[in-house]
Amino acid sequence: MSPDPTALAAAFGEAYQRDPEGVWHAPGRLNLIGEHTDYNDGFVLPFALARGVSVAAARRADGLLHLRSLQAADQGVVVPVDGGSLEGWAAYPAGVAWLLREHGAGGASLLIDSDLPAGAGLSSSAALECATALALCDLYGIEIDRRELALLAQRAENEHVGVPCGIMDQSASLLSRDGHALLLDCRSGLSSHVPFDPAASGLTVLVVDTRAAHTLTAGEYARRRAECEEAARLLGVPALRDVKDLAAALGSLADPVLRRRVQHVVTENHRVEAAVGLLRAGAVAELGSMLTASHLSLRDQFEVSWPEADVAVEEALRAGARGGRMIGGGFGGSAIVLTAADRAGNVRAAIEDAYAARSWTAPAIFEAEPAAGARRVI
Ligand code: ADP
Ligand code: MG
Repeated sequence: MSPDPTALAAAFGEAYQRDPEGVWHAPGRLNLIGEHTDYNDGFVLPFALARGVSVAAARRADGLLHLRSLQAADQGVVVPVDGGSLEGWAAYPAGVAWLLREHGAGGASLLIDSDLPAGAGLSSSAALECATALALCDLYGIEIDRRELALLAQRAENEHVGVPCGIMDQSASLLSRDGHALLLDCRSGLSSHVPFDPAASGLTVLVVDTRAAHTLTAGEYARRRAECEEAARLLGVPALRDVKDLAAALGSLADPVLRRRVQHVVTENHRVEAAVGLLRAGAVAELGSMLTASHLSLRDQFEVSWPEADVAVEEALRAGARGGRMIGGGFGGSAIVLTAADRAGNVRAAIEDAYAARSWTAPAIFEAEPAAGARRVI
């Protein structure tokens, strides 16, 4: 998939009365396993989606940024490339341009298009930042390696949008490789590619948008982070990633809530490592049980799952899926399911029926395949 680059170039022509100099695409991502491990200095294992954000762009000599999006209700914004502050969607691409200014970026006209639902936990924000970053680097001949560029895009979101995101989304968008997941060490920032080709093993990954809004997210997310920091402080380690002896750690914590949080983070890091081992061994179907174990831990130990995700995972398993789990911060958003490709229809129907029987909004379900990272497409 991904937006049609030729159509986007034509739309750019209409919007700006000139041709773009190129079109760039950056994918969204799914985190296969490793949930609530990032801010504990742990491991995550995302892969890039075929869906993402595309940007048609051309340089401007007047030092201005013209920003428009086919998905935005407004007519776009015009701001100086020298810096400033913005509210709303344009802060993402403008923030990137402002940070790239010191590397030599100048003015540009941008037209954005996307086939990634925004705010669904598939990281449209990082895709928007990374497509913009790649476009400006190419247009102005700026050479920055992709790890540095991921850090710059993250900084744009932290400083210019005000979202305290980690480095996973931008890394997955810029560093992913087709047919692979990306093992990312959130402490060192180092990453490696792990073969992940479900179709080659007769498997399918389904993404289930549970259509449940993240109502509690901000407060509960902050509380989980604080609990993890408190547990690490009590255990005398820099971060929960450093807990080596889980039994001893659990034995020394008096608070049952902190014990549950530690149990999740420590075992989830081990599950990422186990998942990587299984993938490297070509045992892709076995990954299913890791996903389900992750879900149960997120549900019972970290206590961030929500009814629609629990039902999606339970019904998928009942219909014969290999495994599944909620993804993202919790309390709403999506789940993923790993299933034999020839059972995907049954699994999908089982989830849809279970939602209908409860009079819940029908879930939106699509198949995800590990795709390539950000690139120039025209
Ligand atoms: P996620 O990254 O999970 O999709 P975020 O809340 O982090 O969710 O980012 C979504 C925001 O990114 C949107 O509210 C919007 O401001 C911006 N955004 C994403 N895609 C587009 C797009 N195609 N056009 C304009 N803004 C977009
Ligand atoms: Mg985001």
